[in-house]
Amino acid sequence: MNKTWFKRKLGNGHGEEVTRSWLVCSTSKKSAFCICCILYSRSDHQSSLEQESGFNQWKARERISVHENVKNHRECFIQWKEVEINLAENKGVIDAELQSQIEKEKQKWRDILPRILHCIKFLAIQNLALRGHGESFELGDDSNMGNFLGLLKLLPIFDPVMKEHLTRVESHPGSTSYLSPGVQNEFIHMMASTVCQSLLRSIS
Ligand SMILES: [Zn+2]
Repeated sequence: MNKTWFKRKLGNGHGEEVTRSWLVCSTSKKSAFCICCILYSRSDHQSSLEQESGFNQWKARERISVHENVKNHRECFIQWKEVEINLAENKGVIDAELQSQIEKEKQKWRDILPRILHCIKFLAIQNLALRGHGESFELGDDSNMGNFLGLLKLLPIFDPVMKEHLTRVESHPGSTSYLSPGVQNEFIHMMASTVCQSLLRSIS
């Protein structure tokens, strides 16, 4: 491989060069590849630049230049650049859908976590124990699941957000719920730390 492979003279009389962005190399295979043709080419007559083995032959500069001007390569290059522009403008179908899912997931937890936090805060203010004999919603009605889970089980009667969340937790055991004893303790420590800092600020 040679550094000169990756540059192309514009031929505008000023000796200007542009980088061949489509040409990528593998140091382990000691070969060069055409990324856009590898991704998009449907041609039966693939050059070595489009194949798994790559391209490492002599007279490479001329061969690369020939490949660059082949119709199939030009079409693949345009397709590659169009995808790049679409993704950059957030118009890409895959990207937009993924982004939308991430935003929905973020909003879901922004809705759920304050409800859980307020339940823990209420029980802490009332000096009530959070946990009972079990940590499962599947316990029978006469079993003591504790004040925290009991209170949470009350919310879905009026609150669609918690109704959906608890239905999911019950139907998908092991899924993320933010209801475990570890999470309860984490919330309690965070609130204790906030109270401590507030007290320290007020006396300093
Ligand atoms: Zn190509």
